[in-house]
Formats: sequence, C-alpha cells, structure tokens
Amino acid sequence: CQTMAKSSFEYVKKFEADDSLLPNTWIVVRLDGKCFHKFSEEHDFSKPNDIRALRLMNYAAFTVLREFNDVLLAFGQSDEYSFVFKKSTTLYKRRAAKLLTTINSKFSSSYVFYWKKFFDEEPLKYPPTFDGRVVLYPSDENLIDYMKWRQADVHINNLYNTTFWTLVLQGNLTPQQAEKRLCGTVSADKNEILFQEFKINYNSEPEIFKRGTLLIRKSVFNKNLDKNSNIIVDTHDDMLKDRFWKDHSSLLLNRSKEILMYDGPVTDI
Ligand code: ATP
Ligand code: ATP
Ligand code: MG
Ligand code: MG
Ligand code: MG
Ligand code: MG
Repeated sequence: CQTMAKSSFEYVKKFEADDSLLPNTWIVVRLDGKCFHKFSEEHDFSKPNDIRALRLMNYAAFTVLREFNDVLLAFGQSDEYSFVFKKSTTLYKRRAAKLLTTINSKFSSSYVFYWKKFFDEEPLKYPPTFDGRVVLYPSDENLIDYMKWRQADVHINNLYNTTFWTLVLQGNLTPQQAEKRLCGTVSADKNEILFQEFKINYNSEPEIFKRGTLLIRKSVFNKNLDKNSNIIVDTHDDMLKDRFWKDHSSLLLNRSKEILMYDGPVTDI
C-alpha cells in the first residue's frame, strides 16, 4: 500500500547533509556574474562603466531586500552583489544551501525580468548566470573589513579601468598599448595621466562608479501618511572612512533606528 511504500523509501532523506550555519554569526552571500567580461561586450555595455547595468544590478538587489526582511544591507559593484543577513536570522533554519540558492534565484530572475526597464531597446541575448558563495564573519570588525575590502576593490578597478579606457577611447592607444602604459603604475600616476593628458579630475567621476552602491534600510517619517515608513535607499558613501561606521552605528543592529524627515514619495516595504 502507499504508506508502506512511502516509509520504505523515505530513509533517503537522511542522506541530506546538515549545512546549518553557526548561530550568532554574520552571514554574507556574494553573487558574481559568470563571464560578464563577455556578457558586457555582447550586450554593448559602455566602457568602463555602463550605468544601465549598474542600475539593473541595484534594482535586482532591491527586490531581494524587499522580499527578505532578514537581509540588513547589500553592497554591489560591477557584476557582483553581497548580501548581509542580520546576525540573529533563523531564516530557513540558517541552512546555507537554502539561503544561497533563494537569494541567487531571486536576484537572477529579477535581473532578467527587469532587463527591459533599464536596457530598453537593447535585447537580452541569452539568460545570464550568477555564481554564489556563503561566508561567515564572527565579529563586527571582520564584517566591516569585508565591506571595506569590496569597496577598496571598486576603487582599484575603477581607477585602472577609467585610465585604461580613456587612453583607448580618447588617447587612441590600442588596448595592448594602454595596458603596457599602465603596467607598474600606482594610483598617483593614473590620476596624473587622467589630469595632465585628458583634463579629467578622477575625484569628479560619479560616486556610483568610484564607490559602488550600498543598499540600506531606513525608517523615515512620511508627512503625507503621518507615520514612519521603512524604505530601502541606495547610497554611495565612503565605507573606508571610520567616520562612516561612527555615523552609521545603528547599521549593524537588527533594524536601523535612524529616523529621517522625508516628504518625498516613499517606497513602502
Ligand atoms: P567570472 O565568471 O570569473 O566572474 P567575469 O568575466 O565575470 O568572469 P569579473 O572579474 O567578475 O569577470 O569581472 C566582471 C567584468 O564584467 C568586468 O571586468 C567588466 O568587463 C564587465 N562589467 C561588469 N559590469 C559592468 C558595467 N556596469 N559596465 C561595463 N562593464 C561591466
Ligand atoms: P516551499 O516554499 O516550502 O517549497 P511550496 O508552496 O513551494 O512551499 P511544495 O511542497 O514545494 O510547496 O509544493 C509545491 C506546490 O506547488 C504544490 O503543492 C502545488 O500546489 C503547486 N504546484 C507545483 N507545480 C504544479 C503544477 N505543475 N500544477 C499545479 N500545481 C503545481
Ligand atoms: Mg569572479
Ligand atoms: Mg564575474
Ligand atoms: Mg565580478
Ligand atoms: Mg516549493
């Protein structure tokens, strides 16, 4: 009979590995586009920074935060996004595979679903792939250093890419010549090349290119509704400065306690 059959097969369930993550520890999920060097060329991304692509990444990440309340904040740059869960989360009993796959799946499907909203006439030629990993950080200091590490990466890459593409697009060097020219240069040299040869002040480049995007939750007072609303906002602040972490000391608490006066439109979540 059916119940007998069910119980005689059910033992296979026990083969599933227990992958629940250590309690009271920061859980970070980082996604990264697969072969986006190629994907960006095939979809005609402007170099070095395609703003449509960055906004689509941010929007896909926004849909993740909107759906998963236990994600405190997220940081994105280039083809990657990191999601930080609140320390005390018990979502999916902290099972690593469940957390990683649902976040990746929501992000990836949103990337495709909202493609047209940002790319308009540019067709999506094939379904993109994102890889993902889970990393645990035991202390606040480790987590803050993780955030600083990802943002420092934006700076290093963007200064290089901005100089490289300026040499190619405005300086008429071949990619090989530009690469050779930049070989062994430090940050100051690249700033100098941009300023002396092309009158570009790197500091005046858009913040989103230089620093990536940090999505955080805020509680704002909405005059029209006469109540506080929880919203998700994108910021491009400098997390490498210790000042940032002092000013945002509530960021790593379970819920941001910051209340802002705000009378613009509110995205209620
Ligand atoms: P992997 O599969 O190993 O991640 P990858 O080709 O995706 O390989 P990454 O190191 O992840 O390599 O780099 C992503 C690349 O995608 C960048 O080097 C850049 O060429 C391209 N890219 C991503 N976002 C943008 C953007 N907004 N504008 C222009 N190019 C972008
Ligand atoms: P969870 O998030 O825990 O997986 P769930 O609602 O997805 O919750 P499942 O046990 O995975 O629960 O069951 C999937 C449900 O989706 C089915 O019970 C059924 O209601 C519905 N469903 C899935 N595929 C079909 C289908 N082809 N036709 C009709 N209903 C379907
Ligand atoms: Mg990679
Ligand atoms: Mg990649
Ligand atoms: Mg990458
Ligand atoms: Mg299901």
